[in-house]
Amino acid sequence: MASVQLINVNKVYDGGVHAVHDFSIDIKDKEFIVFVGPSGCGKSTTLRMIAGLEEISYGDFLIDGKIMNSAAPKDRDIAMVFQSYALYPQMTVYNNMAYALKLRKVPKEEIDKRVREAAAILKLTPYLDRKPRALSGGQRQRVALGRSIVRRPKVFLMDEPLSNLDAKLRVAMRSEIVRIHEEVGATTIYVTHDQIEAMTMASRIVVMKDGFIQQIGSPNEVYQHPANMFVAGFVGTPAMNFLYGKLENGVFKINGSDQKIKILPDQMKLIKNYEGHGLVYGIRPENLIFEQDERFERFKATSFEIKVGIIELLGDILNVHGKVGETEVVVKMPNKYVIKENDVIKVAIEHSYERFFNETTTKAITPEYCEYEEVEVTKSLDDDNVVIVKQEPQGLFAKAVGAVKGLVNKKKKAEKPSEEKTDNGNEQPSEEK
Ligand code: ADP
Repeated sequence: MASVQLINVNKVYDGGVHAVHDFSIDIKDKEFIVFVGPSGCGKSTTLRMIAGLEEISYGDFLIDGKIMNSAAPKDRDIAMVFQSYALYPQMTVYNNMAYALKLRKVPKEEIDKRVREAAAILKLTPYLDRKPRALSGGQRQRVALGRSIVRRPKVFLMDEPLSNLDAKLRVAMRSEIVRIHEEVGATTIYVTHDQIEAMTMASRIVVMKDGFIQQIGSPNEVYQHPANMFVAGFVGTPAMNFLYGKLENGVFKINGSDQKIKILPDQMKLIKNYEGHGLVYGIRPENLIFEQDERFERFKATSFEIKVGIIELLGDILNVHGKVGETEVVVKMPNKYVIKENDVIKVAIEHSYERFFNETTTKAITPEYCEYEEVEVTKSLDDDNVVIVKQEPQGLFAKAVGAVKGLVNKKKKAEKPSEEKTDNGNEQPSEEK
């Protein structure tokens, strides 16, 4: 199997469309990477450049450390699975899977071994003699995967392979593909516009917009720590709420409303340089706690009121849509409360799940990840982001430093008394006695 590297890869189409800008990623062996983003953001173009179906305008593409920019598609050892999986209708499942190997003149016994192995992984063994028309959509999609698996490529590329399936089958196939990936263990790059697919399948997600990478991270990193407002709004349903406002004398004043949200001391450290400037308070619908929830009391310091609009009932969940001034807010809560349109309800922000954004740059305001316990925000608003600067080392690094210091002190201590004893003449080395 294989590692894949893209270094500042760009695509400029003949007409001048700059579809992909400086795409860089280091994909490790056996990773399941998902490129996700809205239509036209450059996902397929990037995938097609990896496959060799589209020329790389500039930048480098490497497999296992070897530059492959100009290798022909067939020499890249890559298999691609598309949404239109066009099986040969007149061939059995077995022959559909065996066909590419026959063309490559692989010995018959080897073909048989690989097809049966793939069929077992794909749970297609009982259907090997059937023709595609006698299969369900999901089974057909698995045959399409099987055709790639038997080739044992270094890398699998999948371009929206589930988008032709109905919703229920899509859900089932998601976990099937994850299971198959685990069994086959091949490096996989999967393209989708569906953020739920990305969240449920990926080991790492690459979120794209307008040809630019917005963030690369595990599903949880991207969800909990979105790098900017685009990622925050794209990942998660309903989308994250964005309250636009200003920091004024320690409170966040929501634009177009007289409501204020108290800013807690640790939040203040992060955003104090934003006093009077455009700030966006981001909070996910599930982290707004309804006043009747027993957790409300704990977070009541950061509560505010919303006027209820439509209420979506999703079985166990209510999505309560409302407004603070002109700002739309959605609150996700268990379906056990009685709430009506036009009610004014109180909700509290579940502290530590909020995210602040710079309104101008739309970037998240974060202390850079570090092991320092206390964070001091010292950069000004003119910088893109607020970043921490100075701190005493804490955590692991501090422990390591401490341990080294400890050893040195111990050694000194061990040396010192004997020196003293020798100096004051109370004790002489034994051989001199
Ligand atoms: P996605 O897969 O994310 O929907 P694409 O990679 O297909 O996006 O397209 C990215 C951008 O490149 C779009 O603006 C699209 O219109 C443009 N594009 C795609 N293919 C071509 C082409 N052959 N010639 C010119 N522009 C193209």
